[in-house]
Amino acid sequence: MTTQSAPVKALLQTEEGKGDFADITLPTLTEGDIKVAVAYSTINYKDGMVLKGVGRLVRNFPHVPGVDFAGTVIESEDPAKPVGAKVVVTGWRVGEAYWGGYSEQQVLKGKFATILPDNITPKQAMGVGTAGFTAMLAIDHLERAGLNANDNPKPILVTGASGGVGTCSLVLLSALGYQPVAVTGRPEQADWLKALGAHDVAPRDDLTGKGKPLERETWGGAIDSVGGGMLGRLLAQMASGASVAAVGLAGGSELTGTVLPFLLRGVNLLGVDSVMCPQSTRDRLWPRIGTHLVGAKLETITTEHDFAALPALADDILAGKIRGRAIIRINP
Ligand code: NDP
Repeated sequence: MTTQSAPVKALLQTEEGKGDFADITLPTLTEGDIKVAVAYSTINYKDGMVLKGVGRLVRNFPHVPGVDFAGTVIESEDPAKPVGAKVVVTGWRVGEAYWGGYSEQQVLKGKFATILPDNITPKQAMGVGTAGFTAMLAIDHLERAGLNANDNPKPILVTGASGGVGTCSLVLLSALGYQPVAVTGRPEQADWLKALGAHDVAPRDDLTGKGKPLERETWGGAIDSVGGGMLGRLLAQMASGASVAAVGLAGGSELTGTVLPFLLRGVNLLGVDSVMCPQSTRDRLWPRIGTHLVGAKLETITTEHDFAALPALADDILAGKIRGRAIIRINP
């Protein structure tokens, strides 16, 4: 049984890069849909792109951005996601092709929501968010390609270390027994990155500029949020048989370098796609996130902001000025 929605407050984009807060009326639920009371959302790099109209990620307007959110199911036409369930939504092009989390309530396909395990609240789920889920997914990819903390591997490199994916990767890798090395453009954050679990901190400049096709075998694996020239450099520095989980493009989308790391050292380049990641993988990884990422360290990387602060945060995230995870309090 569904009822027509009363208007709810949302951040509504009317055209590319332009929008403001408005009262919106949500669609009536059809089979398979759920309505979620949104407790928290976040701002990710991709949200910054959508809010500022960079990269034309959104084609249909009006649009409600917000690529992830968490809250409680308040109406349901999906038996697998009953009323009262606490859920998290990441990926599936929510906030791009579909309306997202910058709204007090949202209607979506129930299959886009994951029921939260008992060890994570909606607020903690947004401390994790797309970035933390992606960090867990990247480690899962590395481990499936052979990485094993018990085999005493060389250090694991994490680029874009002070960002959302980077900080969550540091916390997770150290909790799982690895020795992550943080690469950052913000050397003044070194102590903070070490407190999160970085075994060591390297300046971004160490991995910029042109290198040799093969350099000294230094890293037992890598999680790369930066891409571009940095990805080319770190591929050339990977140990034999090691893998790079390519996550992001904060530093550029081109891929430079040679095929020599693949041919002469058997290096693996693993693409990480948290957007279309299968539900079974989400159900497997969220409890692991609850065990290894949720806790005091997650709280130290999380800053909480009012709904009204969102537009201003978009510039900051695109400029790489946000440290860790920025969560948005919508309707806690
Ligand atoms: P953030 O903005 O939080 O972090 C990115 C970090 O990269 C910054 O904090 C900064 O770290 C570094 N950085 C920023 N600009 C540059 C630059 N020009 N050159 C080198 N380093 C730079 O973003 P997220 O962590 O949320 O996301 C990181 C990337 O991963 C983005 O490209 C995002 O789109 C992508 N992503 C991909 C996903 C997937 O499924 N594949 C899912 C989630 C995100 P520092 O100052 O420490 O160097």
